[in-house]
Amino acid sequence: MDEIRIRELQVYAYHGVFPEENEKGQFFYVNATLYTDTRKAGMTDELGDATDYGQVCHLITRVMTENTWKLIERAAEVVAEEILLSCPLVKKVHLEIRKPNAPVGLPFASVSVAVERGWHKVYLAVGSNMGDKQRHIAQALNAIKANPKIKVGAVSDWIVTKPYGVTEQEDFLNGALEIDTLFTPGELLDFLHMVEAGEGRERTLRWGPRTLDLDILFYDRLVYEDDRLIIPHVDLQNRDFVLQPMAQIAPNLRHPVLGKTMNELWKELDSKLHNQGCVATH
Ligand code: ATP
Ligand code: CA
Ligand code: CA
Repeated sequence: MDEIRIRELQVYAYHGVFPEENEKGQFFYVNATLYTDTRKAGMTDELGDATDYGQVCHLITRVMTENTWKLIERAAEVVAEEILLSCPLVKKVHLEIRKPNAPVGLPFASVSVAVERGWHKVYLAVGSNMGDKQRHIAQALNAIKANPKIKVGAVSDWIVTKPYGVTEQEDFLNGALEIDTLFTPGELLDFLHMVEAGEGRERTLRWGPRTLDLDILFYDRLVYEDDRLIIPHVDLQNRDFVLQPMAQIAPNLRHPVLGKTMNELWKELDSKLHNQGCVATH
């Protein structure tokens, strides 16, 4: 990726844990590397095709001076996020905030906090089989679109599918979404649970009826697991109602572990199901 580098931007601000830091203030120095694609601007020579680094310098100065935080960790977090939210061409930012006059009481050159933050490409599975399913899904989409840390991209068609596992329940309405997000996987899961709860989702029976189910299928090319999360979704390759919408919106997306595209996985499953005459679980 191409880079735009801002070095040693000097900002007089009031961040610190000691009251005198908040009263007197001190100089902070900001280094920012913006990861972007400068090709178009390089070809057209038009400012409209570029990220205006002058504006970014003013944005950093404004965010640093309009707020007083205890920690430069907080300053770095907010400045990085503001840059990502206001510069559509910037995919990732590396930001360092240096505080050379921090009151440490020992001779030292400088202390700084450096963070790297960016947009992540995520695919979500959406399902509903209780109440007004279309409405639950529409409301979920609205809640997702309303969050500034999420940009919704491709949305699949909604397909009607038969339940499996616990079969004495209504048909499902299923689909998939592509989003770009600033959330970490854990934060995204918390947010999705909130949206589910907003539609009255109750966690009772596994694979039982639900007003809304939002699963994380892929998060960039991340392969990850902890107590709450497995990414990519552990069972997606066995689910027709996930692969069909994914093959529609991202046919050539390759599963980072299985090494096959959504199209390939869907076709494979389809022929397996035709041979066995069975359907996968929700
Ligand atoms: P399945 O995960 O088989 O589709 P489900 O969606 O019905 O089943 P839920 O009751 O909605 O299961 O979720 C149970 C837990 O699964 C969640 O609380 C979450 O911690 C965990 N989980 C693990 N990996 C993921 C993932 N990739 N996306 C969403 N939830 C996940
Ligand atoms: Ca779920
Ligand atoms: Ca699910």
